[in-house]
Amino acid sequence: MKNHKWKRITLKVGSALIAPDRKGCTSRYLLHIAKFILQCRDMDIQVILVSSGSVAAGAHFFGNIENPSLAIKKAMAAAGQNEMMTSWDRFFDFPSAQILLTHGDLQDRERYDSVRETIFALLEHGILPVINENDTVTTDELKVGDNDNLSAMVAAAADADALIICSDVDGLYDKNPHTHDDAKLIKEVCNIGHDIFAMAGGAQVSGVGTGGMKTKIEAAEKATSHGIRTYIVNGFKESSFELLMSGINPGTVFTAYDLPMQENLHWMTHTSKAQGELVVESNLDHPLDEHSEQLTSNEIVEVHGDFSAGDTILVRSEDGKHLAKAEANYSSCLLSFINDYDSGEDGSELQHQTGPIISDKNIAVLEQEEPDDDDQNKK
Ligand code: GLU
Repeated sequence: MKNHKWKRITLKVGSALIAPDRKGCTSRYLLHIAKFILQCRDMDIQVILVSSGSVAAGAHFFGNIENPSLAIKKAMAAAGQNEMMTSWDRFFDFPSAQILLTHGDLQDRERYDSVRETIFALLEHGILPVINENDTVTTDELKVGDNDNLSAMVAAAADADALIICSDVDGLYDKNPHTHDDAKLIKEVCNIGHDIFAMAGGAQVSGVGTGGMKTKIEAAEKATSHGIRTYIVNGFKESSFELLMSGINPGTVFTAYDLPMQENLHWMTHTSKAQGELVVESNLDHPLDEHSEQLTSNEIVEVHGDFSAGDTILVRSEDGKHLAKAEANYSSCLLSFINDYDSGEDGSELQHQTGPIISDKNIAVLEQEEPDDDDQNKK
């Protein structure tokens, strides 16, 4: 592949490409995507496929009911997952392997490492990992919720060089191309700020999938901060994949950070959800990053949630700023107790006996922005 030095890529294919009209899977769009996967593998580029489509593929078994209940959707996913895997397999003369994940699997560091090991073992043996969210067992709390974000978490876990997200449009536009004739395609994004999120608009639930441009930008943010170049391309067009093969960007490319985040801090920021909160004084007299060990119980205003030692927590200031995500060295129970303890002038005696509340190595400082409801859900 010209101009590319990819060794490993993650490719995300959505439901609209797999089962566009909910009458089961069709090869209409999968053919050229499968050809791209084959070409990559022929060039020794390892591919990890994140494939949606289980619910859309299974819908026809249930008479395509209008507003299926959650239980029926889960049943559709169970039935459709088989059909979706079979559909991919028809194109390949090499084995594929199904991995179904929940956010709970990625949240727990041991399970996360176990998923990584499995992906690496499959790739080493020439087997194509096909990954989807385990919709049948997930509850809202355990869900990633959309496969755009899931694909970025998978790309990070698998140390991919590139993430390619298929969309129903050519890439990111400065306004919604479905409603604005003069919308312009943004070819390259070097910095994902509020302006880029503003272009993406809100989350959408389209005909057969979940997500929209917003979740694709979230995915790009997760991936690029891990050093993974991210593309949003039109999955319906064969030319997208031909151009990618020739080293040409067919859609929008998001350049990777020059200095990717450290692996464990990236996981904490972008994959692990906070299990609780430490609310600290608004005017700490030391920054939280490399001086986090100086945080004393005197500076903790409140402890929220129910977490154990080792869990990821959000540290936020009294005035609502999200300061950092960190690994708690103590449970919420013990921290509440330390917090209530009548501490000495230099901080809690108990804390001095037991060690820092947060270790310098396990804290990821967040860009400070006003929290909103959506942020809350993501953290
Ligand atoms: N996991 C869902 C499915 O396979 C799709 C999620 C999404 O569309 O992002 O049907």
